[in-house]
Amino acid sequence: MQAEKEDEDDASPEECYARSDFTGGASDQLSFSSGDKLLVHAKPSTDWWWAELRGVRGYVPASYLRPGAAGEEEEEEEEDSSLEDPWQDEEYFGSYGMLRLHLEMLSDKSRTEAYRQVVLSNSASLRNKVVMDLGCGTGIISLFCAQLAQPSVVYAVEASSMVEYTRQLVKQNACEEVITVLQGRAEEIELPEQVDVLVSEWMGNCLLFEFMVESVLLARDRWLREGGMMWPSSAALALVPCQADSYYAEKMAFWERPYGLDFTPLQSLAQQEFFTKPKFSYLIEPSDCLSPPCDVIYLDMYTLQVKDLEEIQGQFHFCVEKSGVFHGFTAWFTVHFESLETGGAAVELNTGPNSEPTHWKQTLFMLDRPVSVYAGDSISGTIVLRRNPVWRRHMTVTLHWSINSSTEETDNCQVGTKSFPMWR
Ligand code: SAH
Repeated sequence: MQAEKEDEDDASPEECYARSDFTGGASDQLSFSSGDKLLVHAKPSTDWWWAELRGVRGYVPASYLRPGAAGEEEEEEEEDSSLEDPWQDEEYFGSYGMLRLHLEMLSDKSRTEAYRQVVLSNSASLRNKVVMDLGCGTGIISLFCAQLAQPSVVYAVEASSMVEYTRQLVKQNACEEVITVLQGRAEEIELPEQVDVLVSEWMGNCLLFEFMVESVLLARDRWLREGGMMWPSSAALALVPCQADSYYAEKMAFWERPYGLDFTPLQSLAQQEFFTKPKFSYLIEPSDCLSPPCDVIYLDMYTLQVKDLEEIQGQFHFCVEKSGVFHGFTAWFTVHFESLETGGAAVELNTGPNSEPTHWKQTLFMLDRPVSVYAGDSISGTIVLRRNPVWRRHMTVTLHWSINSSTEETDNCQVGTKSFPMWR
């Protein structure tokens, strides 16, 4: 049987090696370990390939594989890494060299006002302090510091070409005595002194996406004086099981009877196309949350290490409060800014459904199949954020869950697992 099946495929599958471990999230995905040899039979998309390992076939994330037979390993590796910058800096900093993202961020009042509030409520303590604003963009946070407090200097560091305008904005607002604009990557710039405060707006979708946080940690270790302040001081990722009726209807139920026709054979394609990756910029209604949210990951910005970012794990236990359809999980983050004053109030920026919407909105992770749940059920499990070993700004989010029913006397426990690449 097996031989027959193989004959259906391309005559000469491509040999590839796993760059690192991968745990398949869905039943049609393969799990493998670093160094495993896989045979790639088809490349239905750029991100997911159809491959074989030890006679078993399934989908594998393309970025975890590198081509080549055993003897070619090193040569291929060299060639491969020179193909493209794994940080995609040209694209990344290129996008910050234009106004679109800055307009989006500055128009986000909750975000920008939170940073303003941090400076305002610490203005007395910021007097004569040395501040670094890492990734200053248009210089907004540095300008808040210079206008609302009296730091001795603010080093405003920016790697994108926006920095030319930042200089003009600093001048235009008469802050050039206080703000020193430095062009370059935070990892490479030199400062004449250590800083008392390191402030940065580094958060991405699902908190970590794009991994600018790495630059912040490296700058902290190099430039923050002993006992200095990190803003944000901590960050948390929150998760909630949710209904997503209209999104499900729009992308999946749609195929059930369009124009009176049965298009259900397209549903597996729809699942692959719409539910494989998380949905960014999703706004969840508080009433679609099936239970109160839970903080699944907590990052202490003083102790967090770059190596910790490779794999971050969290756990959850939700008690379903109202019956409904469990379509997926929604995630968002919160960051805290400690006060420089002892006993001073902390500032919080919460991007969840019960706060003013921010430009991050929330991130939706759809299950492959919806599950009915009832008040009193519990949903517990784990979340793993695994950084892509090749594409350093990307990660995969893996969710494992089990639903324990409260309504049936029989042992009714449903389990599921799914991995979501963001973006590779
Ligand atoms: N602080 C600004 C911009 C935040 S967006 C504001 O709050 O509006 C993040 C900025 O950091 C972008 O402009 C990006 O180009 C910059 N950036 C990201 N990584 C960097 C690094 N390693 N070194 C210098 N700048 C960086």
